[in-house]
Amino acid sequence: MTNELLNSLRGIVGATHVIPADEVRDSAWQTHQPFRGRALVCPSTTAQVAAVLAACNETCQTVVPIGGLTGLVQGCATENGDIGLSLKNMKLIEGIDAVAQTMTVQAGVTLGEAQAAVDEAGLYFPLDIGARDNCMLGGNVATNAGGTKVIRYGMTRDSVLGLEVVLANGTVISSMNRFIKNNSGFDLKQLFIGTEGTLGVITRIVFRLAVKARSHNVALLACNTYEDVVQVLSESRELLGSSLSGFEVMWHSFYRQVTQPLGPQPALLPADLPYYVIVEAMGAHPQYDDEIFTGALESLMANGRVVDGILAKSDKERKAIWAIREEVEWLISGCFNFDVSLPVVDVADYVETVSAGIVADVPGAIVAAFGHLGDNNIHLSVLLEENQDAFADVIQEHVYQALIPYAGAISAEHGIGLEKRAYLGISRTVEEIELMRSLKTLLDPNNILNPGKVIDCADS
Ligand SMILES: Cc1cc2nc3c(=O)[nH]c(=O)nc-3n(C[C@H](O)[C@H](O)[C@H](O)COP(=O)(O)OP(=O)(O)OC[C@H]3O[C@@H](n4cnc5c(N)ncnc54)[C@H](O)[C@@H]3O)c2cc1C
Repeated sequence: MTNELLNSLRGIVGATHVIPADEVRDSAWQTHQPFRGRALVCPSTTAQVAAVLAACNETCQTVVPIGGLTGLVQGCATENGDIGLSLKNMKLIEGIDAVAQTMTVQAGVTLGEAQAAVDEAGLYFPLDIGARDNCMLGGNVATNAGGTKVIRYGMTRDSVLGLEVVLANGTVISSMNRFIKNNSGFDLKQLFIGTEGTLGVITRIVFRLAVKARSHNVALLACNTYEDVVQVLSESRELLGSSLSGFEVMWHSFYRQVTQPLGPQPALLPADLPYYVIVEAMGAHPQYDDEIFTGALESLMANGRVVDGILAKSDKERKAIWAIREEVEWLISGCFNFDVSLPVVDVADYVETVSAGIVADVPGAIVAAFGHLGDNNIHLSVLLEENQDAFADVIQEHVYQALIPYAGAISAEHGIGLEKRAYLGISRTVEEIELMRSLKTLLDPNNILNPGKVIDCADS
């Protein structure tokens, strides 16, 4: 990057909002993704984002969009010479429309801030993930984040009504639709949701909100076999209907790592059972919902599908159950993590095949499995004793190759970033990847936006 460009960026966003690389490296919010670029540019308005990108595009300067840095696939990885474009100064909640049930925000608002504001307005924000206090809404949209409420509300994509995006050349695409129904031409926002900052920088978003639940029931259950877990899922859907808002499964390998004595969370059920399930329901009629939920649990216990269980009686107890599932910090710093999708009925066989293969090739490896089973989505975490990097390739091969017989997806929700790019062909056809490349070339002919992430366009 030339000093001339750096000076023009200072002129656009203000000198204090162009942070030199040394200071970025020192700052507290850089944790597991060290900054290797030249400078971090922090615009406050869409006009500034547009001017920054236009200036960068003219000089073919590469730009990596940066949200809350909680992504798990090296989507924000920077190299020498890149500039980071942080949305952290775009934190305005522009408005919540209680009648239309929409919220309009700038992309740098964190998920936790959005949830709190919507709650105060008497409504419910449909997205929830463990990284809520740090991830930004722009990052959630750019990764099409999933989380624990997908079974009820869908992925982030399902809650986005409108978007404002700045293209690589600085053109602002204002597609700030506020309506549930709008078939006026192409639905352009879909080009940018889940494309990980490769096609444009998301600056503003219109979200669709939900009504706030008046009843909230959570139970932690244990099952002896995977067939029972699948049956519990089917029966929960049937018995709880549309109030079912969460269905999370933890294999024994995960539960044991996160509960005492190995982990920090109290073991609310004994740690020697094969499968643990969190069932959650949220409804509008507490007087009936509590009864229906208790009845569903009784029925699951009576038919032997569930061998042990506890029903939370207070908010504190609900949080204690969820804390077990959300105890993932140890995974993020010390493990190889994967998030894959495949048919629900095949998940146990897949987990067994992959675990056996990894343990045979990597002595001492522990494979912990858990995830959003109701959405076909399982997370695998591989914990090694030492010398992590030497085993990266062999572990990835086991996890991804074993998906092929099931036509599984190499990413259910975290995205591709740099980390999974080499394996994209397992889940996408040659023609699909070629179309992705064509779209990238059309929208970003100089390949300045998050180059190398998702697909490689360097030689095209
Ligand atoms: C504890 C923990 C729990 C998690 N749980 C889940 C989960 O349940 N479900 C799930 O899906 N993910 C989960 N994640 C992953 C992560 O939180 C999500 O991917 C999240 O959506 C990323 O948001 P972010 O703001 O941190 O984005 P970043 O990490 O900053 O960026 C992610 C990608 O989006 C791009 N990007 C960021 N902002 C913009 C923008 N404004 N415009 C264009 N591109 C942009 C970046 O270039 C990068 O490619 C978890 C992570 C952690 C640490």
